[in-house]
Amino acid sequence: MSFVKALRCRECGHVYPIEALHVCEFCFGPLEVDYDYEGIAAHISRDTIEKGPGTIWRYRDLLPVESDEYVDLGAGWTPLVRARNLAKVLGIGELYIKNDTLNPTGSFKDRVVSVALSKAKELGFKVAACASTGNLANSVAAHAAWAGMESYVFVPSNLESAKVIATSVYGGTVVAIDGNYDDVNRLCAEIASEEPEWAFVNVNLRTYYSEGSKTLAYEVAEQLGWRFPDHVVVPVGSGSQLTKINKGFNELYKVGLVNDQPNVKVSGAQPTGCSPVASAFFSGAEFIKPQKPSTIAKSLAIGNPADGVYALDVVRKTGGGFGSVSDEEVIAGIRLLAQTEGIFAETAGGVTVATLKKLVEEQKISKDETVVCYITGNGQKTVEALAPSSEVTATIKPNLEQFSALLQDLRS
Ligand SMILES: *Cc1c(COP(=O)(O)O)cnc(C)c1O
Ligand SMILES: [Zn+2]
Repeated sequence: MSFVKALRCRECGHVYPIEALHVCEFCFGPLEVDYDYEGIAAHISRDTIEKGPGTIWRYRDLLPVESDEYVDLGAGWTPLVRARNLAKVLGIGELYIKNDTLNPTGSFKDRVVSVALSKAKELGFKVAACASTGNLANSVAAHAAWAGMESYVFVPSNLESAKVIATSVYGGTVVAIDGNYDDVNRLCAEIASEEPEWAFVNVNLRTYYSEGSKTLAYEVAEQLGWRFPDHVVVPVGSGSQLTKINKGFNELYKVGLVNDQPNVKVSGAQPTGCSPVASAFFSGAEFIKPQKPSTIAKSLAIGNPADGVYALDVVRKTGGGFGSVSDEEVIAGIRLLAQTEGIFAETAGGVTVATLKKLVEEQKISKDETVVCYITGNGQKTVEALAPSSEVTATIKPNLEQFSALLQDLRS
């Protein structure tokens, strides 16, 4: 059973049945899942959640799936790490890292895919598909393998080799497109209308897919002892994750799991080489001007972000800020996180840490705030970004004399 009432257009409010629909027929606005929050409030409790599984499915009452037979590789309930060393370096009082590098396929995409494919099975789909910047491809291929579904994933041809390998290993079909993500996405929208039997998790199932990101808010609040942080820093690709983290905080208050009204500043992080949402934020624009991406942060390289305006709106309304950071800053961010907290993030994480640093320097984040930095992907997948500047300290012959000499060198 579920508490989903209907799908509703985010722009004009038109109501739709619970099917594989994602755009409004009247105004082309995106559809959003609408819940019976009073019903959820009467049914849900901290206690039942705490006794639930150590996955996103502990929040099943707030997710749009009817059956208990989830497509579940164990996504979610990742550690919220108190980052004392990084806090000290940056000058923040209370800083946490939400370590989503530890998901089954190494990124937060496992949350959204677990929800989307659970819904897809429920709706009778047999084929899983997606347009991906890399991490989504890994996750769709893995979850489809587990669920016994065929998979077709579409990626830009310039993707990191680890992301290609970690997708093809699951045995699905991987199609590289000679173009950027926006080209891939456009093609997938066309394929989705040609192949209505395919569940494109971020096209025709996007309404359900995006709900999975709400668990990033639920977990943080629960892990903080059922309270809200003051400020969160979130990477922005399509803008879906940021928008849904904000929705998640608001829902916790709505259903009575947290008593204080949320007052969480939500800040966005983008690489300068693909920063359409950050640019709109800085210029005061209401709309997003598409960009042609050129950045090492390939998982965020979406030049025409589907949820860009909604992410912009959340950042402005909550009083958050934006970071637009260079590729050099991204690499420095990856190293800083690794060297202070022992967490190896992918390039998107470098973008987030670099943005965190910038927002502190610009005094947009203050010392007395409880800050959470979302680290959404694993560094093992983007080693190319570091390879040019990562070498062994020294190479020596296997004898003690050489090592002693080296040690003397290093210490002098
Ligand atoms: C996809 C992705 C993002 C961006 O999420 P959106 O919902 O598209 O904004 C951030 N980090 C990583 C690691 C990703 O793979
Ligand atoms: Zn509409």
